[in-house]
Amino acid sequence: MREVYLDYSATTPVKEEVVNEMIPYYTQLFGNPSSLYAPGLAAKAGLDKARTQVAELINAEPGEIFFTSCGTEADNWVLEGVADALKKKGNHIITTNIEHHAILHTCQYLEKHGMEVTYLEVDGEGFVSVEDLEKALRDDTVLVSIMMVNNEIGTIQPIKELAAVAKKRGVYFHTDAVQAIGNVPVDVKDLDVDFISMSAHKIYGPKGIGALYKRKGITIPNFIHGGAQEKKKRAGTENSAGIVGFGKAAELAKAGLDKHIAHSSELRAYLWERIEKDIPNIRLNGPADFTKRHPGNLNVSFDYIEGEAILLRLDAYGICVSTGSACSSGSLGTSHVLDAIKVPVTKANGAIRFTVGDFTTKEDIDYVADSLKKIVELLREMSPVNGMEGW
Ligand SMILES: *Cc1c(COP(=O)(O)O)cnc(C)c1O
Repeated sequence: MREVYLDYSATTPVKEEVVNEMIPYYTQLFGNPSSLYAPGLAAKAGLDKARTQVAELINAEPGEIFFTSCGTEADNWVLEGVADALKKKGNHIITTNIEHHAILHTCQYLEKHGMEVTYLEVDGEGFVSVEDLEKALRDDTVLVSIMMVNNEIGTIQPIKELAAVAKKRGVYFHTDAVQAIGNVPVDVKDLDVDFISMSAHKIYGPKGIGALYKRKGITIPNFIHGGAQEKKKRAGTENSAGIVGFGKAAELAKAGLDKHIAHSSELRAYLWERIEKDIPNIRLNGPADFTKRHPGNLNVSFDYIEGEAILLRLDAYGICVSTGSACSSGSLGTSHVLDAIKVPVTKANGAIRFTVGDFTTKEDIDYVADSLKKIVELLREMSPVNGMEGW
């Protein structure tokens, strides 16, 4: 049986070049980067190089990169940190209703602790409007946090325009760019943003390592307290191997960006072409203009059947996809993102997210499209609501 992984937005395999770069940091260069003898200094040199590699991916200065344990930590840190640092100025944060749970659940936590949060609504394709942001800004707004690329439906926000509106009012702008780096060009100087969250495991790097970009000159409190690591801003002995792996993954992502975008978009377009041709009664969720969408993302609803049932049958064919988002599997209810773009519940239940990536081939797509056709036909035959009005 063929094995096809089409869930690159959940996580990616670690590229061999990345693994090879990491291994010596477990075995030979294992010194504590804070130690002053040679093996410690060698480990420290690895961290410095990686910091430069990650900075270069987003056109930042190495001193503006702070390594964290994951993208989620970077999101938590910036929201809680800015809320704390600016509490004299105000207690209002603006975000959107399609953010990752790393943002949404942190906002809910902050609401319990006296913050007020405005959740901007999005249009039918998941776009935030610049005018809506303009109207939501208040004198007591301390932070705007809007994700750059949505993890479920792939929508790429006009971050530069949105950040400019916040800047005009003197309000910090953060973007969760976990799905953006390595998939679309990200240049912090051009975007003119203050904070960016990143993660390695979505760009062919290891799990358990992320980073926060914090514009030079901005101070926020520490999130993890302890030693003097990360310029005394993020304590805890550094995950040297993870950081070095993140650095290498960032270097590869930067060098291969155009090729990655071309390859992913081509296969994603081919998958959509095959699904559209072979399977009736479907709905594309997210931007119809594929240039405004994550290059590997396709989110499709199949009428009359459950996404979960499709997922499990695809799994039996050796195919990995996700329903809604991986982070919400196991929780009841439909995806908050599909809700936000007003996909009717019946159709949201039948949604599958496919994400292609660097190791996907045309043969993989043919196999997935053939299997999917069979599975959808079978499940629809069994479905009591097949062909029913209102589904
Ligand atoms: C995966 C993801 C995160 C969380 O990153 P982790 O490193 O897994 O904690 C945050 N935001 C978005 C948009 C993501 O896709």
